[in-house]
Amino acid sequence: MTVQRTLSIVKPDAVAKNVIGKIYTRFEDAGLKIVAAQMRQLSQAEAEGFYEVHKDRPFFKDLVSFMISGPVMIQVLEGEDAILKNRELMGATDPKKAAPGTIRHDFAESIDANAVHGSDAPETAAREIAYFFPALAIHSR
Ligand code: UDP
Repeated sequence: MTVQRTLSIVKPDAVAKNVIGKIYTRFEDAGLKIVAAQMRQLSQAEAEGFYEVHKDRPFFKDLVSFMISGPVMIQVLEGEDAILKNRELMGATDPKKAAPGTIRHDFAESIDANAVHGSDAPETAAREIAYFFPALAIHSR
Protein backbone atom coordinates (compact mmCIF):
# COMPACT_ATOMS: atom_id res chain seq x y z
CA MET A 1 0.00 0.00 0.00
CA THR A 2 1.36 3.38 -0.96
CA VAL A 3 0.01 6.86 -0.48
CA GLN A 4 -0.74 8.29 -3.91
CA ARG A 5 -2.27 11.38 -5.44
CA THR A 6 -4.70 11.33 -8.34
CA LEU A 7 -6.42 13.98 -10.43
CA SER A 8 -10.21 13.98 -10.32
CA ILE A 9 -12.65 16.13 -12.28
CA VAL A 10 -16.35 16.50 -11.61
CA LYS A 11 -17.50 17.01 -15.20
CA PRO A 12 -20.03 19.63 -16.41
CA ASP A 13 -23.03 17.25 -16.26
CA ALA A 14 -22.48 16.47 -12.57
CA VAL A 15 -21.76 20.12 -11.69
CA ALA A 16 -25.04 21.07 -13.44
CA LYS A 17 -26.86 18.35 -11.47
CA ASN A 18 -25.62 19.91 -8.21
CA VAL A 19 -23.98 16.72 -6.95
CA ILE A 20 -20.42 17.96 -6.27
CA GLY A 21 -20.96 17.47 -2.53
CA LYS A 22 -22.41 13.99 -2.95
CA ILE A 23 -19.40 12.99 -5.07
CA TYR A 24 -16.95 14.53 -2.58
CA THR A 25 -18.63 12.50 0.19
CA ARG A 26 -17.87 9.30 -1.75
CA PHE A 27 -14.19 10.27 -1.86
CA GLU A 28 -14.06 11.14 1.83
CA ASP A 29 -15.98 8.06 2.96
CA ALA A 30 -13.45 5.93 1.05
CA GLY A 31 -10.57 7.56 2.92
CA LEU A 32 -9.44 9.88 0.14
CA LYS A 33 -8.53 13.43 1.14
CA ILE A 34 -9.17 16.45 -1.06
CA VAL A 35 -5.79 18.22 -0.92
CA ALA A 36 -6.39 20.78 -3.72
CA ALA A 37 -9.48 21.99 -5.58
CA GLN A 38 -10.59 24.59 -8.09
CA MET A 39 -13.79 25.31 -9.99
CA ARG A 40 -13.03 26.31 -13.55
CA GLN A 41 -14.57 26.79 -16.96
CA LEU A 42 -11.95 25.19 -19.20
CA SER A 43 -10.89 26.85 -22.44
CA GLN A 44 -10.90 24.79 -25.62
CA ALA A 45 -7.09 24.75 -25.64
CA GLU A 46 -6.96 23.55 -22.03
CA ALA A 47 -9.43 20.73 -22.67
CA GLU A 48 -7.62 19.69 -25.87
CA GLY A 49 -4.29 19.66 -24.04
CA PHE A 50 -5.68 17.69 -21.13
CA TYR A 51 -7.13 15.01 -23.41
CA GLU A 52 -4.24 15.06 -25.89
CA VAL A 53 -3.79 11.28 -25.52
CA HIS A 54 -7.24 10.87 -27.13
CA LYS A 55 -6.69 13.36 -29.98
CA ASP A 56 -6.95 10.72 -32.72
CA ARG A 57 -10.02 9.01 -31.26
CA PRO A 58 -13.38 9.53 -32.98
CA PHE A 59 -14.96 10.96 -29.82
CA PHE A 60 -12.24 13.60 -29.22
CA LYS A 61 -14.11 16.61 -30.67
CA ASP A 62 -17.32 15.83 -28.79
CA LEU A 63 -15.38 15.15 -25.59
CA VAL A 64 -13.67 18.55 -25.76
CA SER A 65 -16.98 20.32 -26.56
CA PHE A 66 -18.62 18.62 -23.60
CA MET A 67 -15.79 19.44 -21.20
CA ILE A 68 -16.01 23.16 -22.03
CA SER A 69 -19.84 23.25 -21.96
CA GLY A 70 -19.93 24.38 -18.33
CA PRO A 71 -17.80 24.71 -15.21
CA VAL A 72 -15.93 21.72 -13.86
CA MET A 73 -14.65 21.00 -10.35
CA ILE A 74 -11.05 19.81 -10.40
CA GLN A 75 -9.41 18.20 -7.36
CA VAL A 76 -6.38 16.30 -6.21
CA LEU A 77 -7.23 13.27 -4.08
CA GLU A 78 -4.66 11.77 -1.74
CA GLY A 79 -4.67 8.45 0.09
CA GLU A 80 -3.66 4.79 0.08
CA ASP A 81 -3.84 3.50 -3.51
CA ALA A 82 -5.71 6.67 -4.45
CA ILE A 83 -5.54 6.05 -8.21
CA LEU A 84 -7.18 2.62 -8.16
CA LYS A 85 -9.50 3.52 -5.30
CA ASN A 86 -10.84 6.51 -7.24
CA ARG A 87 -11.26 4.38 -10.39
CA GLU A 88 -13.28 1.88 -8.35
CA LEU A 89 -15.46 4.64 -6.91
CA MET A 90 -16.03 6.04 -10.43
CA GLY A 91 -17.12 2.79 -12.09
CA ALA A 92 -16.92 1.83 -15.76
CA THR A 93 -16.57 4.54 -18.43
CA ASP A 94 -20.05 3.71 -19.75
CA PRO A 95 -22.55 4.33 -16.91
CA LYS A 96 -24.75 1.56 -18.33
CA LYS A 97 -21.94 -0.89 -17.56
CA ALA A 98 -20.97 0.67 -14.21
CA ALA A 99 -21.73 -1.30 -11.05
CA PRO A 100 -24.52 -0.08 -8.76
CA GLY A 101 -23.14 2.19 -6.06
CA THR A 102 -20.45 3.67 -8.29
CA ILE A 103 -20.45 7.38 -9.10
CA ARG A 104 -21.08 6.86 -12.79
CA HIS A 105 -23.89 4.38 -12.19
CA ASP A 106 -25.57 6.69 -9.71
CA PHE A 107 -25.02 10.13 -11.28
CA ALA A 108 -24.16 9.77 -15.00
CA GLU A 109 -26.39 9.52 -18.05
CA SER A 110 -24.19 8.41 -20.92
CA ILE A 111 -20.66 7.47 -21.96
CA ASP A 112 -19.94 11.04 -23.07
CA ALA A 113 -21.57 12.76 -20.09
CA ASN A 114 -20.18 10.43 -17.45
CA ALA A 115 -19.89 12.66 -14.36
CA VAL A 116 -16.23 12.22 -13.44
CA HIS A 117 -12.67 11.90 -14.67
CA GLY A 118 -9.93 10.09 -12.76
CA SER A 119 -6.28 9.45 -13.62
CA ASP A 120 -5.65 5.84 -14.64
CA ALA A 121 -1.95 5.34 -13.70
CA PRO A 122 0.84 6.99 -11.70
CA GLU A 123 2.42 8.63 -14.78
CA THR A 124 -0.87 10.10 -15.98
CA ALA A 125 -1.74 11.23 -12.44
CA ALA A 126 1.55 13.14 -12.19
CA ARG A 127 1.02 14.78 -15.57
CA GLU A 128 -2.64 15.62 -14.94
CA ILE A 129 -2.04 17.05 -11.45
CA ALA A 130 0.78 19.27 -12.76
CA TYR A 131 -1.48 20.35 -15.66
CA PHE A 132 -3.85 22.12 -13.26
CA PHE A 133 -2.03 22.64 -9.95
CA PRO A 134 1.35 24.17 -9.08
CA ALA A 135 3.02 22.24 -6.23
CA LEU A 136 2.29 25.06 -3.77
CA ALA A 137 -1.47 24.72 -4.39
CA ILE A 138 -1.51 21.17 -3.03
CA HIS A 139 -2.02 20.97 0.73
CA SER A 140 -1.02 17.53 1.86
CA ARG A 141 -2.49 16.81 5.29
N1 UDP B 1 -15.48 8.78 -24.21
C1 UDP B 1 -16.52 8.93 -25.07
N2 UDP B 1 -16.83 7.91 -25.93
C2 UDP B 1 -16.14 6.74 -25.92
C3 UDP B 1 -15.08 6.57 -25.03
C4 UDP B 1 -14.76 7.61 -24.18
O1 UDP B 1 -17.17 9.97 -25.09
O2 UDP B 1 -16.48 5.84 -26.71
C5 UDP B 1 -15.15 9.88 -23.29
C6 UDP B 1 -15.68 9.65 -21.89
O3 UDP B 1 -16.15 10.87 -21.37
C7 UDP B 1 -14.46 9.18 -21.14
C8 UDP B 1 -13.35 9.97 -21.83
O4 UDP B 1 -13.74 10.02 -23.18
O5 UDP B 1 -14.57 9.43 -19.75
C9 UDP B 1 -11.98 9.38 -21.72
O6 UDP B 1 -12.01 8.04 -22.15
P1 UDP B 1 -11.27 6.89 -21.33
O7 UDP B 1 -11.29 5.66 -22.20
O8 UDP B 1 -9.95 7.39 -20.87
O9 UDP B 1 -12.26 6.62 -20.09
P2 UDP B 1 -12.15 6.95 -18.54
O10 UDP B 1 -10.70 6.80 -18.15
O11 UDP B 1 -12.66 8.36 -18.35
O12 UDP B 1 -13.04 5.95 -17.87
